Amino acid sequence: MSLAASYAADLDALKDDDRLRSLKARAGIDFSSNDYLGLANNSRMRKAIAAAVEAGTPIGAGGSRLLRGNCAEHESLEAEAAKFFGAEAAIFFATGYTANFAVLTTLPQRGDLLVLDQLVHASIHEGARAGRAEFRFSAHNDANAVEEVIRTWRREGGKGRIWIVAESLYSMDGDFAPLEALVAIADRHDAFLMIDEAHATGVFGPNGRGLTAAYEGRENLIAIHTCGKALGAAGALVTTTRLLRDFIVNRCRPFIFSTAPSPLMAVAVEEALAILREEPVHQQRLTRLIGFAREEIGARQGWQFCGSQIIPYIVGDNARTMTLAGGLQARGFDIRGIRPPTVPVGTARLRISLTNNVDESDVRAMLDALAEVTGGGSR
Ligand code: PMP
Repeated sequence: MSLAASYAADLDALKDDDRLRSLKARAGIDFSSNDYLGLANNSRMRKAIAAAVEAGTPIGAGGSRLLRGNCAEHESLEAEAAKFFGAEAAIFFATGYTANFAVLTTLPQRGDLLVLDQLVHASIHEGARAGRAEFRFSAHNDANAVEEVIRTWRREGGKGRIWIVAESLYSMDGDFAPLEALVAIADRHDAFLMIDEAHATGVFGPNGRGLTAAYEGRENLIAIHTCGKALGAAGALVTTTRLLRDFIVNRCRPFIFSTAPSPLMAVAVEEALAILREEPVHQQRLTRLIGFAREEIGARQGWQFCGSQIIPYIVGDNARTMTLAGGLQARGFDIRGIRPPTVPVGTARLRISLTNNVDESDVRAMLDALAEVTGGGSR
């Protein structure tokens, strides 16, 4: 067998299963990005970056944060973020993926237990696998199931600390975690709660502080606010206590052994936080658009509407999902099919996201086009 043959066979197997992916140029009306507030092209963000470049801010940090890479822009962003999110401290990572991986491979210790919601993001799975703690899954969004996993583990002799890990808003289903119940369980079991706010930051909570805003400042809450989605930039802010931030600075290998994020990105994210604080219009516009979509979709079949900006249209079959996505793309809509393993087998879907890059007439036109490609006729 040639060196490449096993890779080719793997790709062939994906193709047979209608799961072969390829990269496509960006085209069509945006119903697929996570640029929820439309800040990726925001003029204030552009100006902030341009001004920083003009003022001599370096493009690259040039080193790790613990060496020469620690720039005033990182420090400034983290101080602002801690204030904005009502936490003692914040720490900036280059991506949300790295942030999840970094936290989970650093804070939970040998002898601890991670309880992961079944549908958490791949980066959380990777962090759990690579970390020191044992991990178990609980049924999706089922707080009782979380507690059952904890009780069982204790009965079996588990002695360490518990870490409950969930997303506040799930990226492929658009549904919300039962946060209040999870906080109560964490308190009952003296557990940490790690909440990935990737899809809620900027969109939900006062000033877009996320769904954990109601629990800000709690010693046992660690939130991951990614900056590549509603904040229109890149990176992630982990909010936590000063103590755990110090621990991350000293013990977190992805933090210590990696070049710091570009200081220009820190500038962009800090500007995004200022926009959230000073221009509620972005959040309000998206909230209205979600309300509009709710009315337009009504009781139509296939849709899974939970009140967020992520509205999946569940198809089931992989090939049909991609055919529908292709039909919508041909009609000028950027809508992507999502297949296993990103979502469970048999639940392939069109992941439709609402952003401020579209308006109500675009939503109507998209729904009409979907009715056409699914053979449902016009509304
Ligand atoms: N968490 C969740 C829930 C996500 O959806 C994503 C991105 N798809 C990430 C983390 C990773 O964030 P980033 O894209 O910044 O690496």
